[in-house]
Amino acid sequence: MSGSPAAGSPALEVHGLRKTYDARSAPVRALRGIDLVVDAGEFVALTGPSGSGKSTLLHVVAGLEPADEGTIALAGTALDGLSAARLARVRRRHVGLVFQFFNLVDHMTALENVALPALIAGAGASAATDRARDLLDRLGLLDKSAELPPALSGGQRQRVAIARALVNQPTVLLADEPTGALDSAGTADVLELFSRINELGQTILVVTHSPEVAAAARRQVQLHDGCIVEPVPAVP
Ligand code: ADP
Repeated sequence: MSGSPAAGSPALEVHGLRKTYDARSAPVRALRGIDLVVDAGEFVALTGPSGSGKSTLLHVVAGLEPADEGTIALAGTALDGLSAARLARVRRRHVGLVFQFFNLVDHMTALENVALPALIAGAGASAATDRARDLLDRLGLLDKSAELPPALSGGQRQRVAIARALVNQPTVLLADEPTGALDSAGTADVLELFSRINELGQTILVVTHSPEVAAAARRQVQLHDGCIVEPVPAVP
């Protein structure tokens, strides 16, 4: 499903990542030297207690927060030293983002929401719409194309948000607590979709508190106090 890189080669490489927040009382060392490689085709869950740095790591990789130190490479492209414009292009090309609360545009249809990142990346209107429709079809959501997000269930909204994150064929799909706002049926729908797109080759890195989501992933990486504590071997 994603355009690059070849299965087994690194989709995401993070080395020596450090991030300290200047909190009012004392600095918070949210990331204390993270090394992580996610290969193309992997489905990895980032687990660990609340406050262990999971969201910070995802946000730094996604470019929503700057790191203090360390390197990030996406599909072999190192991000350090790039101009802001080039960095934005590389991230648009390689990263798809899914949030806990969907972040869909409520006055746009599901189809328009999914087409939006393709338009932003420079596709023409009809090409963007065709890609969005094709993706919704492949994800079993075509019958929801004309719906506005408020008319959809939580699980359906999150599946539309996942389609939106996939429309530019990102190297890696990053998801921050994607089932955190869903009931058990919605969670099952989203996990089924993650497993399906991963079987089609989509690399996924998901931050989660949920044992169910962690169990659906093929590898778990646990954070504790800003450090990776115990990488659990991949399921063969
Ligand atoms: P997790 O996702 O594992 O719950 P976070 O990455 O959200 O952990 O947070 C890691 C640590 O950084 C926590 O101690 C949290 O309070 C702190 N933190 C996160 N964001 C900020 C911020 N914007 N300002 C100050 N401290 C923050």
